[in-house]
Amino acid sequence: MITLDNIVKKYGDRSVYDGFCANFEGAVAILGKSGCGKTTLLNIVAGLTDYGGKVTKDGDIAYMFQQPRLIKNLTVLENLEFAGADRESAKKMLERVEVGESLYPKQLSGGMADRVALARAFLKNAGVLLMDEPFRGLDIGLKVRIMKLFCELRSEHPCDVLFVTHSPLEAARLADRAAIIDGGKIVADLRGENIDEKEIENVLVTL
Ligand code: ADP
Repeated sequence: MITLDNIVKKYGDRSVYDGFCANFEGAVAILGKSGCGKTTLLNIVAGLTDYGGKVTKDGDIAYMFQQPRLIKNLTVLENLEFAGADRESAKKMLERVEVGESLYPKQLSGGMADRVALARAFLKNAGVLLMDEPFRGLDIGLKVRIMKLFCELRSEHPCDVLFVTHSPLEAARLADRAAIIDGGKIVADLRGENIDEKEIENVLVTL
């Protein structure tokens, strides 16, 4: 469980959150229009930005940023080892995400680099996984395969997941809950096994 208690966040005069409270458990999709504070929320949970209030969570954090952030002069396998994974687990994980272990980041397509970032995040075995638009820009075929892989990995490595997305499809497929943020508050909170894509879309178009 991730608990945010009375969170206050400003950038200069711009207030993003002023007394934000929430409990997040399981896989939660965070949606809302650009600039509403989704990435800021992840950064607050990760402790990467200063804020007022209190965050509590179960365990370490793995953070899949918008950019894969791989080290250029290391192979993919070396990147995973550098991030703390043991060699055997890293090799197995790379097979699953279908990326050759000896490739360098500049040889990867966007989708491959995203898969390496996903592998690196799960190899951390963290209690909390944060993902910022993890599957954006992928063609639909690849997106569906990676989403399937994400669900498999998550069932093997249970953790709380907070992921930012603009996609009602991703939210419906991956999340137990979709929280839509506007004006520093959760304005719609959809829960259950069958979150309805259309329902999310209906809320998003009103923002
Ligand atoms: P989202 O992820 O929903 O698009 P962000 O969390 O990135 O939104 O940003 C929320 C608001 O805070 C936006 O108005 C953005 O311009 C502002 N903001 C984000 N990061 C900074 C920063 N480092 N300095 C100043 N303003 C920022």
